[in-house]
Amino acid sequence: MKIPKSIIIGPYDIEIIYKEKVIVDDEEQDGCYDQKNQTIEIRKGTSLQRKQVVFVHEVIHALIDIYKVPAKKGEELLVEALDHAVVAFFKNNNFRS
Ligand SMILES: [Zn+2]
Repeated sequence: MKIPKSIIIGPYDIEIIYKEKVIVDDEEQDGCYDQKNQTIEIRKGTSLQRKQVVFVHEVIHALIDIYKVPAKKGEELLVEALDHAVVAFFKNNNFRS
């Protein structure tokens, strides 16, 4: 799975940005979705497979935010439950006709 330079979700163009360090609430993370700037940040220096999971993880956060998906038990648990499953789904199926 190739990670695009930008994606479209709903009305937003979301740029994918690579950084040496991704800091969220004073903690280093592998990625984050910035809802104020409509960007997804991914930490450099991890494997491509890890970047794919981080990318999909942050896409799920963006989907939840933009489409206002209710996340009753906490958004982080919901996203963690889905990120590996969604990456495997895209990897294991061919969507090109
Ligand atoms: Zn998360």
